[in-house]
Formats: sequence, structure tokens, C-alpha cells
Amino acid sequence: MKTDVVVIGAGPAGLSAALEAGENGAGVIVIERESRPGGILKQCIHDGFGVVRYNEKLSGPEYAFRDIEAVKAMKIEILKNTFVLDLKKKGNRFELLLQNPVQGVFPVSATALVAATGCRERTSRQVFIHGDRPAGIYSAGTAQNLINIHGYLPGKKCVILGSGDIGMIMARRLILEGAEVVGVYEIKKEVSGLTRNLVQCLEDFNIPLHLNSTVVKVHGVSRVEGVSVAAVGPDYSPLAGTESYIPCDTLLLSVGLIPENDIIEPLGLAMDPTTGGPVVDQQMMTTVPGLFSCGNATHVNDLVDYVSESGVTAGRAAAGYCQKSCMQGEIEVDAGENLLYAVPQRLVPGKEAVIYFRSACTLDKVLLQVKAGDKVLTTKKYIRLRPPEMERLILDPLPAGVEKVELSIEEAETDG
Ligand SMILES: Cc1cc2nc3c(=O)[nH]c(=O)nc-3n(C[C@H](O)[C@H](O)[C@H](O)COP(=O)(O)OP(=O)(O)OC[C@H]3O[C@@H](n4cnc5c(N)ncnc54)[C@H](O)[C@@H]3O)c2cc1C
Repeated sequence: MKTDVVVIGAGPAGLSAALEAGENGAGVIVIERESRPGGILKQCIHDGFGVVRYNEKLSGPEYAFRDIEAVKAMKIEILKNTFVLDLKKKGNRFELLLQNPVQGVFPVSATALVAATGCRERTSRQVFIHGDRPAGIYSAGTAQNLINIHGYLPGKKCVILGSGDIGMIMARRLILEGAEVVGVYEIKKEVSGLTRNLVQCLEDFNIPLHLNSTVVKVHGVSRVEGVSVAAVGPDYSPLAGTESYIPCDTLLLSVGLIPENDIIEPLGLAMDPTTGGPVVDQQMMTTVPGLFSCGNATHVNDLVDYVSESGVTAGRAAAGYCQKSCMQGEIEVDAGENLLYAVPQRLVPGKEAVIYFRSACTLDKVLLQVKAGDKVLTTKKYIRLRPPEMERLILDPLPAGVEKVELSIEEAETDG
């Protein structure tokens, strides 16, 4: 099979990319390893999706349904239950070896490739908790999948480690399903998720949140019987003498998401160690010509609306690349010291750019400046910047001759 654009992943990013590439005249094939398209949205049955894109509060499946129907209407093929066995770039084409139960093992060749593979959750192995490994320890997303897709309650008395969005959403979900949530334990001094989830999921349901504290030990041999928690100091080390034992049968982890890029990394693209995703320009093109990245595979987003936005950008540029109208970004974007990261990390001149960024810590009343040398390109005031809340900024097309763009933060008197 030969096509213009292959999209790997039929989550919201991949579906948007496929639609936009199709609308811009490209032949498109979407590859999805699961049996249904929609990505993680399939298991997110609460509402709050689509507020930016549709000005409506949709559930995850409702949000995904709109893109799935649009893809069907455009007659774009989604190869489901399909795995990528091998991926290589030969000359200027991407050669994929795929496998699924209908076609067996088969090759597909494409001019452009969009990686929309989403992210995975950090596991208990990555947060180093002492104790045994009994049944009853789940990542929050696994528990979400068990309850919302399969109809199983993973436990009756739960402790949640980490205050990421999925953990807070699952705390509420467990209460609604009749389980007890003893508390959410967060090692940092503030929550890791969105303020709206703190209010709607924890505060509204009287679920205790313990900041500056962590789980230090899991007890139980065949099943979790309890956990030991402790307060932590400024360096996140547990403070001796503060340990207490909490009986429970389940520990959920909501300790971060990691962009999933294992399939494209062997292609030798530049990766950003802070985001965990590829270095991209404002067309979402990576440092490998013709290879695009979007959604949570590029960097972890908090709103699906911006995931879809990046998919649209990647799909349009991938179609443009097939028609030879897409150059590669080489102007470096430098996120200043108070910023955790900025995406894209590279820019091409002459094209508007959407810049997504996060602050490194909570900052009140600040002015963001985007500069090229001494020239201020744009400024924006913020009453508050918080690392969990991703920000978005539109940058006008850069003139030719700019070599580097710098983002910097300084204190500002602001009323908004
Ligand atoms: C567990 C979890 C729960 C979440 N819950 C919420 C929530 O409640 N509310 C919220 O606002 N946001 C939530 N999010 C954030 C959510 O991920 C994003 O809003 C959005 O779904 C990301 O879209 P995406 O297309 O980038 O990735 P995904 O939705 O993850 O889609 C990626 C798709 O790529 C497929 N794929 C990956 N690798 C391959 C491969 N090698 N071959 C073929 N297919 C592949 C996957 O099967 C999947 O269908 C959650 C994220 C996770 C990880």
C-alpha cells in the first residue's frame, strides 16, 4: 500500500491530523492498535471536554464521536487492531511494516508520517515506593479503564498518591461508585492538576488532600493491606517521625504522564528532555523531514482542545509536505529560566506560530516577553502562572534574518 500521509494513533490528535490532511488533498491512512478509535477519550466519561473548540461541555466519548464521524464521512481508512512492527525512512519515504488480524503482515509506504501516539502513565516502578508488590496497586488511568470501560471496581478503600488530573478525577469516580477514598497524598506543596479538578473532584466531595506528603511503604503480600505515609521536607525526603499507617486495599498512582515515542525515536530525531517529546517547529514537524508529531506525544496537554489544535496543524503541514510546500524550522526558541518549557522549540520564518508553555513554578503578576535579540515581538501579562495550567500564545510571523527567539518572565504590576 502506498499513500501520502500515515497517521499513527486514532486519538483526538491523530483524528484531527487525518481530517485536516484529507481536507488538504492528501491520501491518508490511520493506524490504531486498539479495536476502536478515540484514544484515551473512550474512558473519560465525565464532562468538560470541548469547551474551547466547541464552546460546549462534552464527555470524552462525545468529543471523540464528532471526529470519528467526520473521518468516516471523509472515507479515511482507520486500520484498527494494527501494530507497527517496523518503521524506517528509506530515501524520502517512510516504510512501515504493519500487522493486524485481517491483513496479516503487510507493508505501507508514505511520504509523510504523523505520530499521534499519546502518552503513558508513570508507574509504581518509577516512583520507588518501598514494600511488597501485592495486588491492588494501579495507575489512575488503569483504574479509570477498569471502571468506565470494563465495569470493575478496583477496590473498596483507596489511597491516591499524586494529585494529577486523572488521580483527582478518579477520586471522585471511586466515591460515585461507592468506594471510600481515604485521601490524596501529594509530595509537592501544591496540587499537580488543574484548579477546576481540585474544586470539582476533591473539595466538592470532601476528599482530604495532604500536601507535602507521600506514601513511603506499601503493606500486604497478596493484596494491599495498608500504606505508610509521611510528611516530606523541602527536598522531598520523608521526615523521620512523621510516618503513619493507613489501612486500605488499593493504592492509585497519579504521578505523571510520559509522551510515548518509542516507535519514532529510532528514526534519529531530536528529543526535548523536558517535555519527553520530539523537538518540533510550529508546523509540528520534527527534525526528521516529513515526520510530524502532535497531541500528548509531543508534550502532555491538559485540554483536549489543544491536542486537536496541534493535530490540525500537523495534518495540514503533512499534506503540504507531500505537495513540497513545507520547509523545516531552524530558528531556536529559548524558554527562559522561569519557564518549564515552550513548544514548538523551533520556528520557520513567515508563518504564524502557536506557542504552548508552562511556568516552572507558581508566579503571580508577571509579564511574559517574547524577544528576538533586543526587539520585543510580543508581551502578555498574567495574574498567575501555574505549572499545571498550560498557556497558549500566538506569535506573528517572524521576519527573515531572526536566528533565535527568547521567552522571558519578569515581575509586573497587572490587573489582567
Ligand atoms: C490514562 C489517561 C486518562 C486521561 N484522562 C483525562 C481526563 O479525564 N480528562 C482530560 O481532560 N484529559 C485526560 N487525559 C488527557 C488525554 O490524554 C488527552 O486530552 C487526549 O486524549 C490526548 O490525545 P492524544 O490523541 O494525544 O492521545 P490519546 O488519546 O492517548 O490517543 C493515542 C492513540 O494512539 C494509539 N497508539 C499509541 N501507540 C500506537 C502504536 N504504536 N500503534 C498504533 N496506535 C498507537 C493509542 O492506542 C491511542 O488510541 C488522560 C490521559 C491519560 C493517559
